[in-house]
Amino acid sequence: MERLRETILRAGGKPVHADRAVDAWMLGRPVLEAFAEPRYALPRAAVPALEEELAALEALGEVLEEHPAEDGGRKLLLGLEDGARIETVLLPRDGLCVSTQVGCRVGCTFCGTGTLGLTRNLSTDELLIQVRRGRERQKVRRVVFMGMGEPAHNIEAVLEAVAILHRDGRVGREQLVFSTVGHPRVFERLQACTPPPALALSLHTLDREQRRALLPRAPDVEPAELLEAAVAYSTRNRHPLQVQWTLIEGVTDGLEEARQLARLLQGTRTVVNFIPVNPVAGLPGSRPNRERIHQVVACVQDGGVLAKVRWSAAQDATGGCGQLVAGRQDGQPEGAPPLSGPN
Ligand code: SF4
Repeated sequence: MERLRETILRAGGKPVHADRAVDAWMLGRPVLEAFAEPRYALPRAAVPALEEELAALEALGEVLEEHPAEDGGRKLLLGLEDGARIETVLLPRDGLCVSTQVGCRVGCTFCGTGTLGLTRNLSTDELLIQVRRGRERQKVRRVVFMGMGEPAHNIEAVLEAVAILHRDGRVGREQLVFSTVGHPRVFERLQACTPPPALALSLHTLDREQRRALLPRAPDVEPAELLEAAVAYSTRNRHPLQVQWTLIEGVTDGLEEARQLARLLQGTRTVVNFIPVNPVAGLPGSRPNRERIHQVVACVQDGGVLAKVRWSAAQDATGGCGQLVAGRQDGQPEGAPPLSGPN
């Protein structure tokens, strides 16, 4: 956005022109139309420089495929300048789920993205183009960094995007959600961001050994301590905390563990999102039946903590996170059924 601003100023535009260009770009509107009214007309000499800059921004992420889902969501497959591919998901109720990396190195055993390994981090521009692509299609008031990748492994770019989305993109601070497998040091870094984003902690279990097995390259921290640090961060910033818990039959669907989770969260402003696993071909783990899912949720709710079942957004559109990209890397043709799916 700074480059866009400078391009206009250097080419003879005024600060009001620069502001209008940034505003239109961030809101997903056609930028040149922001100068259509005579009182905002851009000096003619500035137009070619602006067009060149806009073409460079457009090339950051082209929409290669678009898959509407029955839940009102929509999954986009974006092609980046170097040929890498990522997913961006439009969520029902004005939300957008953004990818932060090409692949991911945490390697969660229930996740399609985890099977890809890490190729590279996304730049701040590549995070912002996902929001623009979303806003070209629907209103976006909430941006969750919960797509492909672990945001904490690309934290500087993600926090820069958070700051820009809040300042130039009109996204409220509670509507910017940083999702992470977590580490107390990560929470300290988030605190230094302006604004500190809301937090979603991917916890999945309270058993340290189990967590190590499920999230093999996540920081090896005692889950209860991690949860305590996440609650402290969210309380300090007056945000509700989201806890993400993937439900895998016989692994993370224990009722006593759910009661223990409720005890740890009692009196806090937390919502626990239970995500029935979207089975991934070639990976172990199946989804508990509906009755069991409701029993687990009830255990947490009976403990006085808000809990919901969150089916993967846009899941019928090519499975959970990473499956569209994984499918294309396997050479699956467009329209082929999903490989299966994680969260
Ligand atoms: S669930 Fe998230 S952290 Fe785990 S492998 Fe998938 S993208 Fe990475």
